Amino acid sequence: KGPVFAIVGRPNVGKSTLFNRLTGSRRSIVGDEPGITRDRIYGEVRWNGHTARLVDTGGIVPDDEALIPSEIFRQARVALEEANAIVMVVDGRTELAAPDIDLARLLLKTGKPLFLAVNKIDTVALDATAENFRRIGIHNLVPISAEHGHNIGDLLDEVFAVL
Ligand code: GDP
Ligand code: MG
Repeated sequence: KGPVFAIVGRPNVGKSTLFNRLTGSRRSIVGDEPGITRDRIYGEVRWNGHTARLVDTGGIVPDDEALIPSEIFRQARVALEEANAIVMVVDGRTELAAPDIDLARLLLKTGKPLFLAVNKIDTVALDATAENFRRIGIHNLVPISAEHGHNIGDLLDEVFAVL
């Protein structure tokens, strides 16, 4: 089966964009499983001759906006149980917000290898902005642009090193 890592984060930070960038066409949607695994999206990532499975925990979209914080925590917990490593994604163009800090705290408690992908860092000029997210407390921080493919190799190097 091989190792698995998970993408976790608030809506609209770019989880699906990153998922598609990492998996290419090897994307698969798991349907009709009971309960909360129903809409999770699995894919396969190949890097330097190694293969891992990837879970996009944002595959579950709550109908009610008010449910979003608890939904994210629920997604995170599910992904945590099976993941060998976790990539938390934030939007580097927004202010660091309380839900991000709460989510990071929950993820840090697992003791699993954890990476913070500060996304939407489309230009080198924004690298300094990404540094604002250091205080989230996740040691391994990688500024990326999922859309443009920047630093994706660095992120994969770091993740695959612990899988
Ligand atoms: P998700 O809700 O976390 O899965 O986020 P999506 O992948 O659906 O992306 C949300 C929005 O952010 C979309 O409009 C994307 O085009 C945009 N986005 C994703 N990655 C990047 C990026 O690296 N740079 C920029 N500028 N926009 C991005
Ligand atoms: Mg998504």
